[in-house]
Amino acid sequence: MPLYEYHCEPCNERFEVLRPMSKGNDPATCPTCRGAGRRVLSVFAAITAGGPGESPMPLAGGGGGCCGGACGCH
Ligand SMILES: [Zn+2]
Repeated sequence: MPLYEYHCEPCNERFEVLRPMSKGNDPATCPTCRGAGRRVLSVFAAITAGGPGESPMPLAGGGGGCCGGACGCH
């Protein structure tokens, strides 16, 4: 089951809900005010959470990683 992130505007709360994909676009209940939270795209969340300069996944040819081609581990 995918994990979706939601944002509640009245209390500026961000929370995550594990739910079926068919319910992913539905509003989720805010744990703080019990209001309806709107879904936040996880790609956007990953960028804001990681900050600049930190990529959540190793990119091919990005360099820096062991298997990025720098050390010849293959
Ligand atoms: Zn709320």
